[in-house]
Amino acid sequence: MQALFDLVRDVPDFPRSGILFKDITPLLADADAFGACIDALCEPWRGHGIGAVCGIESRGFIFGAAMARALGAGFVPLRKAGKLPPPVVGVDYGLEYGLDRLEIGTDALSPGERVLIVDDVLATGGTLEAGRRLVERLGAEVVGASVAIELSALNGRSRWPASLPLRALMAF
Ligand code: 5GP
Repeated sequence: MQALFDLVRDVPDFPRSGILFKDITPLLADADAFGACIDALCEPWRGHGIGAVCGIESRGFIFGAAMARALGAGFVPLRKAGKLPPPVVGVDYGLEYGLDRLEIGTDALSPGERVLIVDDVLATGGTLEAGRRLVERLGAEVVGASVAIELSALNGRSRWPASLPLRALMAF
């Protein structure tokens, strides 16, 4: 586990002054570490009947797609505004550095489908919360969420419903 922590690089003042960015690219580039990371992220969700993994653009695609494959689930991208072909539904949300909009294809999920939402980092929690609202808008069931990294000091977890599991592999 310590090996995974050591592969997350701190980048001060990126993408803006005052922000300490957690860079996961060294972890992705290490085959053993990335494999162990995906295995550990998937472990709590095995046997939970996950039908789709919704990964959040863009680094959530990396973890989410690998997890979908490992869990035998489909992968559904939650994308920034204007990236998916119509028809889409969208939600606006605030994040650590600005305002954004997340969209999903209207027909991407079936009503009642059991969905896991995945992103690389949980910071203030706005992005994950937007993902949950989008999935629920299509009538699918959010079973929980997983992130590789939780930035605990930003308390993003408080924006996620206490009734739903939110798993973080590493907390900083
Ligand atoms: P939140 O909405 O929780 O404030 O921000 C989470 C989103 O911003 C995630 O989609 C994540 O990719 C991105 N993000 C915020 N801070 C960081 C960071 O330090 N490192 C990385 N890799 N992504 C971050």
